[in-house]
Amino acid sequence: MAETRSTCPYCGVGCGVLIQSEGNRITGVRGDPDHPANFGRLCSKGSTLHLTATERVLRDERLLRPMLRPQRGGALQPLGWEGASALLADRIDAVLRDKGPQAIAFYLSGQLLTEDYAVFNKLARALVQTNNIDTNSRLCMSSAVAGYKQSLGADAPPACYEDLAHAGCLFIAGANSAWAHPVLFRRIEDARAANPRQKIVVVDPRRTETADEADLHLQLQPGTDVALFHAMLHVMVWEGWLDERFIAEHTGGFAALKSLVAAWTPREAARVCGLKAEQIEQAARWFALGGEGADVRAGGDETTPAARAPTLSLYCQGLNQSTSGTAKNSALINLHLATGQIGKPGAGPLSLTGQPNAMGGREAGGMATLLPGHRDPTDAAHRAEVAAIWGVDALPEQPGLSAVPMFEAAARGEIELLWIACTNPAQSLPDQALVRAALARCPFVVVQEAFARTETTGYADLLLPAATWGEKDGTVTNSERRISRVRAAVPAPGEARGDWQIAAEVARRLEAKLRPGAPSLFDYAGTEAVWNEHRQTTVGRDLDIGGLSWTVLDQRGPQQWPMAAGWSSGRVRLYQDGRFPTPDGRARFIAAPYKPVAEATNAQHPFALNTGRLRDQWHGMSRSGSVPALFAHAPQPALQLHPQDMARRGLREGELAELKSKRGSLVLPVAADTRVAPLQAFVPMHWGSQFVGGTDAKGQSRAGINGLMHGKSCPQSLQPELKHAAINIAPAVLP
Ligand code: SF4
Repeated sequence: MAETRSTCPYCGVGCGVLIQSEGNRITGVRGDPDHPANFGRLCSKGSTLHLTATERVLRDERLLRPMLRPQRGGALQPLGWEGASALLADRIDAVLRDKGPQAIAFYLSGQLLTEDYAVFNKLARALVQTNNIDTNSRLCMSSAVAGYKQSLGADAPPACYEDLAHAGCLFIAGANSAWAHPVLFRRIEDARAANPRQKIVVVDPRRTETADEADLHLQLQPGTDVALFHAMLHVMVWEGWLDERFIAEHTGGFAALKSLVAAWTPREAARVCGLKAEQIEQAARWFALGGEGADVRAGGDETTPAARAPTLSLYCQGLNQSTSGTAKNSALINLHLATGQIGKPGAGPLSLTGQPNAMGGREAGGMATLLPGHRDPTDAAHRAEVAAIWGVDALPEQPGLSAVPMFEAAARGEIELLWIACTNPAQSLPDQALVRAALARCPFVVVQEAFARTETTGYADLLLPAATWGEKDGTVTNSERRISRVRAAVPAPGEARGDWQIAAEVARRLEAKLRPGAPSLFDYAGTEAVWNEHRQTTVGRDLDIGGLSWTVLDQRGPQQWPMAAGWSSGRVRLYQDGRFPTPDGRARFIAAPYKPVAEATNAQHPFALNTGRLRDQWHGMSRSGSVPALFAHAPQPALQLHPQDMARRGLREGELAELKSKRGSLVLPVAADTRVAPLQAFVPMHWGSQFVGGTDAKGQSRAGINGLMHGKSCPQSLQPELKHAAINIAPAVLP
């Protein structure tokens, strides 16, 4: 048996794994005891990874060769790589000639490796000359990106996992870490055991398993986080808990924010958020003073910022998946800046990434609103810098389409060719009726996938078989800016290939048509060469990894960025000198007004629907759904509803209920759950149409829970509000 050191492909904790293999088959997995994210631990998903790749070849669940569907609705026919790559290059060339680059779009995934992102990005921007490249990370982290950039000047989480052990207060907002980031939660439990005085505050409309561990659970009304954070700042101002020196020396814009929060008394916020004023005051105290404030109890002066214990905030989709996503992020960062709770051990905002490489995708600029090296596509100088590194004259100026607008454009008939890699938009995007109409209308849909049957593969004109975890090489970046190697333990089965290799092959054929005679831009000697080109795009930027060669990664293990040339290790935490990467070196307070959710509940749709993860499943289950053991925890989806609401609707445990929004309907068994507040409902996000299946009364395919959600998005981050929709619930009437 061989063991290969790699990284878990599920969540953004980024745990190290040792893949056990015999011949061409992965036979087991164990946690890497030397990886600084997990020190050998794995959760239920990570410890069953060996059942999700080569095992599935035996069950005919892997896509093993390129397949073409000559006619919509017709059968797929096998096609060799030669034919598939040539066909795709021809189709892109034809669309470019007929309709231009804006008619082509790429939709990628936070499951891809950084090198995959880098090559796709170069193909889209340098060769096809379109900024229409986005990713399912738009549904995950784009509000955190926008929040960091507008408040701190760069998309860079300043804190790290080690800070969990130093913090006197952990402020966890919109994150059920106990289930969504289980190994990180074990570290939270360790920190608490080592420091029983540590205080945990959890902000969540549901009493989650994370909230069970809290000293204070703020069970607020959905979408009211900005009002809560403004009221906490109001209390801090009133009580004299600000760090006036930090504000004066290292920030700007506090006067406007102070004036805004003057109206947000704890009593007013309590009314809006559905909380008690005393809860808000308590949360403000623990946040500002770092819990009990260790030195205060020892006779110190709590008004002296230096005497206070540190506060670390952790946050995820509850803040991000919102039409106020950026405002929520910035309002939370305001609290850190106002109290000086940043840039020191145990303090700072630390966004948790949902996917294993949402961070790497941001670094490589694989989003419509980004360029490599945290550059901006609207900045001519940034475009010129990247064009020079890539060896082309210019990059496109015209703004690209982000996730939801990309599918809206396809539904209007404006996208002629859509290339989807490693993601399942026919389940994961909101407003599924529109998404499916878009896929049906787009004349040529390419789906690059490891697995043979997802909701999206059914719409493919061309299916390209991709290698998956355990079969490919590259890098990923986790939530604390730590870059880890991903390594192949076995060859990919059948004719499956690595994702960047597929993109590069098509690119080489396309450039032979578009740039005949010119040296190839895509002639990489291997994955390390792609990595080195990516590193070059970061040099001199806030995320500089000029010193992080493949050899350094192999010899010294995972490293945090930045790690510039000549550095012996990466930087553990950022902004310790109080300087921020803004033009004047100061962080910025953002005075964003509170705005309610986009779709208010009303008499027709009186329930607030929330969606989220279960402990043992991942995204649309295309990977975790193949492991029978992972269904032991929750064998089927259920509508979780407060018992009072079940009684009001005449529903009993296990009976079928119909959920209806303005966009669609779904029938699910109901489960009584006092963790959900009255007039709210929770449904896990994992089950798509292949599991909840069937058709509704009009013969339309039911599309899972995202058939009910709307696509309205945060105006700054363009991230849709997947955490809230107004619905009605009634006993299901079955035909
Ligand atoms: Fe994988 Fe996340 Fe579990 Fe770690 S916590 S083993 S990264 S799913």
